[in-house]
Amino acid sequence: MSESTPICPQCASEQNYFDGTFTVCLECGHEWDAASTTSSTQELDVKDSNGNPLANGDDVILIKDLKLKGSSTVLKKGAKAKGIRLVEGDHEIDCKVDGMKIMLKACFVKKA
Ligand SMILES: [Zn+2]
Repeated sequence: MSESTPICPQCASEQNYFDGTFTVCLECGHEWDAASTTSSTQELDVKDSNGNPLANGDDVILIKDLKLKGSSTVLKKGAKAKGIRLVEGDHEIDCKVDGMKIMLKACFVKKA
């Protein structure tokens, strides 16, 4: 028995079963997606230019002017991005600056 038993997030019961899509609790009838619960708690290790860890919902500030690819728009040093979302990939930060939805590299920002 190496498989860990999922625990109901509602009543913490181990009496549950997987019906192919959701895990269903036999105690309270709660259904949840055990697979997505696991992946959403997985933290991405993203650090800003100062080496401070960043998290979803943080505010960050640009530390240099950044020219947007394929446009003449330049994001100014000091511009603030509120409520960032961390994603996997080359550009780790999904956010809005000046109302524009953009992706940023963590090395070009610092935590606000
Ligand atoms: Zn339950």
